[in-house]
Amino acid sequence: MKYVIMIGDGMSDYPLPELNNHTPLEVAKKPNMDKLAEKGCSGLTINAPKNLPVGSDVANMSIFGYDPHKYYTGRGPIEAANQGIETVDGDVVFRCNLITEKDGKIVDFTSGHISTEEATELMEALNKHFKDKYPDFKGFWHHGLSYRHLFVYHDINTSKLEIPAPHDIVDEDFNKYLDFDTSYGKTIKDIMFESKEVLKNHPVNLKRVSEGKNPANMIWLWGQGTKPSMPAFKDLYNIDAAVITGVDLLKGLAIFTKLNKVDVPGATGYFDTDYEAKAEYACNALKDNDLVIIHVEAPDEAGHAADIDEKIKAIERIDKIILGKILKELPKYGDYKVVVLPDHPTPVPLKTHSRDLVPITVYSSINEDNKDNVKVFSEKTNSEGSLGTSNIGCDLIKNLLNNTW
Ligand SMILES: [Zn+2]
Repeated sequence: MKYVIMIGDGMSDYPLPELNNHTPLEVAKKPNMDKLAEKGCSGLTINAPKNLPVGSDVANMSIFGYDPHKYYTGRGPIEAANQGIETVDGDVVFRCNLITEKDGKIVDFTSGHISTEEATELMEALNKHFKDKYPDFKGFWHHGLSYRHLFVYHDINTSKLEIPAPHDIVDEDFNKYLDFDTSYGKTIKDIMFESKEVLKNHPVNLKRVSEGKNPANMIWLWGQGTKPSMPAFKDLYNIDAAVITGVDLLKGLAIFTKLNKVDVPGATGYFDTDYEAKAEYACNALKDNDLVIIHVEAPDEAGHAADIDEKIKAIERIDKIILGKILKELPKYGDYKVVVLPDHPTPVPLKTHSRDLVPITVYSSINEDNKDNVKVFSEKTNSEGSLGTSNIGCDLIKNLLNNTW
């Protein structure tokens, strides 16, 4: 038996006036998803449990078969894993944004999408300053891309701090979020404020200001956590599985769970991702794996950009290029099951993720008699399916492997 899980990141949506009150999923031409719905079982589910952020990290952790309540520790450590950053016990990994600060407010959480080259210089300046001034300084910056970086700090207590994501508090007075009464909280706040002294008059920023660009004049530390301790996928489920994705967070999850991470040249995590290459690598991965999880980020990016056309196109490409090829390949191996779902909705009107239910369809080549009346894969039609409105969450893999589905 072979298994495929096809995740269209953020592909479900709300009925949009621009589409005559239909959703992008309803409008997109997607004969393969619809065929799976017609011959399979459908329903609605939710992958990001309450009390946790509705992020791709949390939602996909559920889809991978791990309870986020038990294993989710923050997005910092997941990104660090994919960048090959080694941590020791007691290390806490923070996301570190280079931000533009003015009068105690974040006016730009991307510092004008600062270039990686400029940002790298600033990260080096931070490391040098703190190391020179405090020989026992317990932190280190790892530069990433553009405004997105990581900071590893060796004090387990700091994992308890609650610091909002910078993109959620733009133009607000941020001091109220940093009013910590613990010594470790004050330390993190001091590091953020001291970064201003280092960055303000750095040549990179002086040049940016002279060119009319937003300076990266402060850092914002957030999204921190310790390295999660996750059992290997094979130890939990006793099958070989591979993940195909263009996104750091999912690659990081694959590392922690020891899933086979298939790197696809041309998988960008954006509109321009190479669908053909993903389809080809997915088909190849079927040879050595029982389960192949294919993740496409493009519909989520289209949702964030409120680009309805790109969202529809992304869904159609997933259907035609990836599912089309996979569905031709699977019968060569005998019986198979295919699951199609988004991790969470990224509705165009919100430009961000929502906690609404998502459609899920499960097709099993040995269970075609079990089908329900759903003939189209969509937010509305799936609600009438035999899987009902169920909180499948992290039981997805378990249900897929046993005979429930
Ligand atoms: Zn997502």
